[in-house]
Amino acid sequence: MEGQSITRDQALRILQSPANELLSLLDAAFTVRRKYFGFQVRLHVLRNARSGGCTEDCGYCSQSVRASEGAAPQYSLQSRAEIVAGALQAHKMKAIRYCVVSSGRTLSNPDLGEICETIRQIKAEVPIQVCLSMGLLTPDQAAQLKAAGLDRYNHNLETSEWHFPHLCTTHSYADRVSTARIAKMAGLELCCGGLLGAAETREDRVDLAFAIRAVGADSIPVNFLDPRPGTPFQAYPRLKPGDALRALAMFRFVHPATEIRIAGGREACLGPMQALALYAANSMFTEGYLTTPGQGYATDMALLTAAGFEVGELTQA
Ligand code: SF4
Repeated sequence: MEGQSITRDQALRILQSPANELLSLLDAAFTVRRKYFGFQVRLHVLRNARSGGCTEDCGYCSQSVRASEGAAPQYSLQSRAEIVAGALQAHKMKAIRYCVVSSGRTLSNPDLGEICETIRQIKAEVPIQVCLSMGLLTPDQAAQLKAAGLDRYNHNLETSEWHFPHLCTTHSYADRVSTARIAKMAGLELCCGGLLGAAETREDRVDLAFAIRAVGADSIPVNFLDPRPGTPFQAYPRLKPGDALRALAMFRFVHPATEIRIAGGREACLGPMQALALYAANSMFTEGYLTTPGQGYATDMALLTAAGFEVGELTQA
């Protein structure tokens, strides 16, 4: 309750806890969540501004070169007008943050310039926080994005350092940590989370939670593998809902005061248990993900209001 983390041993024991303790666990997580975030749920809207054709080999991703042809839509960077229009739409949905994502290892110089102008226009016209997720960053790129008015940069650690080569070999865990630190050093807020259900162990999940704490994340998206046809991970079994909820509770106890978001794969993994996830998490994406649709804004709103939650305002971002 004072903002400190539990120990690694306690975190692991949470992940090993039996089904008959799950509701007690979520109740305890909710006590912490309520202290810092009340009943509010911060909405985020994603925009995939460029899809497919990525040189990286992330085994879960349908935009990778390793995925089969047709696994994900392929298009180049969307126009400034399209991306700004998306920000306005997100604001109308009461999202506090608009998360613009681009496939690829890093931003090219021309794309960086265009994205900086797009950020400037959004910040001038739409009252919404802007987060960008566009791959590895150099200090100079981060400084340019900060100068353009960017609020936050997303770069996930994905899993533990030891398990990371199972997910990706074209860049390293150290590359990911470096970009997370570069974003923080540039004065950007850091969104840094991971993926659960990609054949990692419980110990890997604990390592991920503590590694995210070590890089000083301001926001933690927790994704659940929704195996995509045409990817190397297509036959992986989905994480069981109970294990997803235990992991969210563990993340809450390691990061008591940090924004935790139920992210990609939420509907597919948790199904009718989605509302329970909000007893640990305090944020969610609505209106779908990068390459998969969600259950829709109206259904998301019905879900959170039926459980007694309310949409968070921009002033609480
Ligand atoms: S997760 Fe990102 S870096 Fe990895 S293949 Fe997909 S688009 Fe590329």
